[in-house]
Amino acid sequence: MLKNNKRVIILIKTILYFDNLCMENLILILQNYTIYMKEIIKFIVRKIPRPVLIKFSFVFGKLVGIFYMGNKVECTVCTKKFRKFLPYGNQGQENRLCPSCLSLERHRLIWLFLKKKTGFFTDKLDVLHIAPEQPFYKRFERLKNLNYTTADLESPIAKVKMDIREMPFNDNSFDVLLCNHVLEHIDNELKATKEINRVLKPGG
Ligand SMILES: [Zn+2]
Repeated sequence: MLKNNKRVIILIKTILYFDNLCMENLILILQNYTIYMKEIIKFIVRKIPRPVLIKFSFVFGKLVGIFYMGNKVECTVCTKKFRKFLPYGNQGQENRLCPSCLSLERHRLIWLFLKKKTGFFTDKLDVLHIAPEQPFYKRFERLKNLNYTTADLESPIAKVKMDIREMPFNDNSFDVLLCNHVLEHIDNELKATKEINRVLKPGG
């Protein structure tokens, strides 16, 4: 009987020893896995262009979302909450890109402005969106109150292909014209702003 008890104690000790070993290894594996995943995510957002990421955002968002679970930040565009935003930019600046809709700070601020300070989501409006941003255009297309047109020189997601300095629209056509991150990239921006002024309705 005593011999049997000794055997049981040895067996329990052995199990506990291996159990501890397993736990330690598991913690080590998880720690390394988190570090690797962080590096992989950083590499992906730095090297793969955002339009490509957006195309695969469903898979990317699901994968990355697990590592950014939390409720410290909230995206104004997709309303999802995270521990923090993804790094983005040449230097991989922290806390910038939404893991779900891949919006940046400027998109979240524009969305917030349109929502809080304008009737963009409720009023009947003719809207021209030049160089439509990926996190926006499908959401804007779904808004029933908008007569929404997208335009760009070469973007494949724009419906109308045009030069902003010579727009194929009549005078006074639009209540709202969205044109973000464009004017600083073109020659003769004065001609472009004149065209913007021409196609906008008075007070637009
Ligand atoms: Zn988002």
